[in-house]
Amino acid sequence: MSQKGVLVVISGFSGAGKGTLMKELLKQYPNYALSVSATTRQPRPGEVDGREYYFVTEKDFDEMIAKDQMIEYACYCGRYYGTPRTYVEEQMASGKDVLLEIEIQGALQIKKKFPETILIFITTPSAEILKNRLVGRGTETPEVIAARLSRAVEESRGIEEYDYVLVNDDLAECTALLHQVIQDQHHRACNQMDFIEKTREELKGFCQ
Ligand code: 5GP
Repeated sequence: MSQKGVLVVISGFSGAGKGTLMKELLKQYPNYALSVSATTRQPRPGEVDGREYYFVTEKDFDEMIAKDQMIEYACYCGRYYGTPRTYVEEQMASGKDVLLEIEIQGALQIKKKFPETILIFITTPSAEILKNRLVGRGTETPEVIAARLSRAVEESRGIEEYDYVLVNDDLAECTALLHQVIQDQHHRACNQMDFIEKTREELKGFCQ
């Protein structure tokens, strides 16, 4: 098995239940690390700095970019979001599978830089359910909900760039499927190169 963790990008329409899925994965399996992003948006009630996000000013955000401290970043509905580099690199090196819950522009940047990354898109069984979940959350204004729905229309055009689309109908089923899809990645040749190279060197030793 690969000793290095795999990098997993989870995207999906706002309201598709990505956050709940991530929590379930982390609760059920020990091998995942969830990256905490930096954002310039305001915290929602109940959100804690350093837990849901690092809530930073635009100046701090610009500085992080200038110092190459983010592996990707994007603007989403007028706010900036980015993935801090150090945590991802350290966790992957220690063998953890690292989850990035990010939107599509960031996902595509990551795939370009690290082609072995797996991109997974989470959606609801229908648009109606998506809208109801967004409204039902009660945390967003009607304007924000409208912006997020129109963003969902845009994002739906980029889904073909993803490796998998999972429909989050039943949470337990979707969590199990997500776990299986990620674990399968360990067996891909691109994630087994260290093992293959070690074996090759040992084989060479037998030939001497
Ligand atoms: P929210 O404001 O609802 O927490 O997140 C809005 C969107 O930003 C979601 O689609 C979420 O996946 C995305 N997002 C969160 N963190 C990051 C990040 O570090 N980079 C990028 N590109 N998108 C992010």
